[in-house]
Amino acid sequence: MAYMINDACISCGACEAECPVECISSGDDKYVIDANTCIECGSCAGVCPVDAPQPE
Ligand code: SF4
Ligand code: SF4
Repeated sequence: MAYMINDACISCGACEAECPVECISSGDDKYVIDANTCIECGSCAGVCPVDAPQPE
């Protein structure tokens, strides 16, 4: 289990700085979460303006 960023992402970058394990990075057309590193803390979802990070 991990959080995943869906297509609603507008690449604002707000979530990247919030992740305690630094598993969020900018992808080609949206930001992406490394599922192997994510600890499901939910911090990214808390700051996202479009609710793009969702529990898988
Ligand atoms: Fe990072 Fe937490 Fe979001 Fe997982 S749920 S990507 S650990 S901020
Ligand atoms: Fe995308 Fe939301 Fe992260 Fe901004 S905070 S980069 S919209 S997932």
